[in-house]
Amino acid sequence: MQSNGFFFEKDRLRPYKSQKKYAPLLLLSRGAGKILMDKCLSANRKTQHLLSLTPSNINNLTMKNILVIGATGQIGSELTMKLRGIYGNDHVVCGYIPSAAPQGVLRDSGPSEVCDVTSGEQIAEVVKKHQIDAIYNLAALLSVVAEGRPQLAWKIGIDGLWNVLEVAREHGCSVFTPSSIGSFGPETPADHTPQDTIQRPRTIYGVSKVTTELLSDYYFRKYGVDTRSVRFPGLISYVTPPGGGTTDYACDIFYSAVRNEKFICPISKGTYMDMMYMPDALRACVELMEADPTRLIHRNAFNIASMSFDPEGLLAAIRKYKPNFEMEYQVEPLKQANADSWPNSLEDICARQEWDWAPQYDLDAMTVDMLAKLKEKLLK
Ligand code: NAD
Repeated sequence: MQSNGFFFEKDRLRPYKSQKKYAPLLLLSRGAGKILMDKCLSANRKTQHLLSLTPSNINNLTMKNILVIGATGQIGSELTMKLRGIYGNDHVVCGYIPSAAPQGVLRDSGPSEVCDVTSGEQIAEVVKKHQIDAIYNLAALLSVVAEGRPQLAWKIGIDGLWNVLEVAREHGCSVFTPSSIGSFGPETPADHTPQDTIQRPRTIYGVSKVTTELLSDYYFRKYGVDTRSVRFPGLISYVTPPGGGTTDYACDIFYSAVRNEKFICPISKGTYMDMMYMPDALRACVELMEADPTRLIHRNAFNIASMSFDPEGLLAAIRKYKPNFEMEYQVEPLKQANADSWPNSLEDICARQEWDWAPQYDLDAMTVDMLAKLKEKLLK
C-alpha cells in the first residue's frame, strides 16, 4: 500500500503505457513522495482541524462570506453545505440559475440568490449585498454536454469567468474555478502526468479549461486577484448525479449495483482515468483556498489525485461486496474519444508540497462508502 511512499498507491498500479519513457520522472516523484510522508501526515492533522471548525471559531480563516456560483450541481450542492458547516450558514450564498433552483436543505439552510455567471451585473449585486470575499465559480457545461453546444460552453465557461474575475478585481474577492483532467490532450504524457506539461486538449471542454487556468493566472499576476484551483479527476458521489461528463459511468455504476441491475458501461475495458471520492474533492477546495499563499508556487491549477482505475477495476471493487453484479460494454464513441485523450493517472506532488494535499479515500474505501450511502438514499 505504501510501496511508493504514497498512501493510496495500490489502486494506481497497472500496466503503464509509457513506463519506460517516464521512468526517470517516476523515480524522482516516488523518491520525493517518501520525503513527503511526514508532510502528508501533518496534512491529515490539518484536515482534522478544518473538519472540527465551527461557526464560532472561524476567525482565523481567510474567507468570511462566500458565494458559490453553480451551487446546485454535483459539486456545488455538497460544497455549499460543507462551507456552511465550516463558515456558518448565513455566510455562504447558494448562487443558482432559475432553471436549477436549490431544493430541500440546500435551499432552507442559508441564503440563496439568482446568479447567472453570464451577467456581470448580477454577480456584482450579489457580491455587494452579501459582502462576499470568496467566490467558488462552478458554472460550466461538462465535457459531453459541451461538445454538443460548444459556443454556449465558451459563453458560460470563459465569458462567465471574465465576469467573475472582473467583479473579484473590483471587490477584492478570491476566486476558485475548477479545471479538470480534461484540460490535457493526446500529446500529454499519459502516466503520472506532471503538473507542468504539454496540454493541447482537443475538446471544447478542454480548450475552455486551459483558458480558465491561464486567465485565472493572468488576473493573479496582473491585478493581484487571489485565484486558485485544482484539476479535478472524475468525481464520484451519491448526493447529486453528475451533469454530463466523460467519467459519469463511475457514479452511474453504483446506482445499478445498489438496484441489483446489470450495468451498461459506455467506456471500454482498459481505459484508465483518475477518479476521486467527493469528500476528498471538497476538502481539496477548502484546504487550497485556506492555504498559506507564500507557499504557493502554482495557482491555476493543481493536479490532485487519489485513485486511477478502468471499468474492470471498478467492477472488481464492487463485486467484492456484490458478487453477482453484472456489467456489459456498449461503448459510446464521444465519451471514449474524450477518455482516450485524457491521462491515465496524474502526478500530484506539487499539491502535496505546496499545500499538504493528501487524499483519504482509496478505491476500496470509496466503494464501501458509496454502496452504503447510496443504499440508504435509494431505499428511503
Ligand atoms: P454540474 O453540471 O453538475 O453543475 C454545474 C452548475 O452550473 C449547475 O448547477 C448549473 O445549473 C450551473 N450553471 C449552468 N449555467 C450557468 C450559468 N449561466 N450561470 C450560473 N450557473 C450556471 O457540474 P459539476 O460537476 O458540479 O462541476 C462544477 C465544476 O467542476 C465545473 O467547472 C466542472 O468542469 C468541474 N469539474 C467537475 C468534475 C466532475 O467530475 N464533476 C470533474 C472535473 C472538473
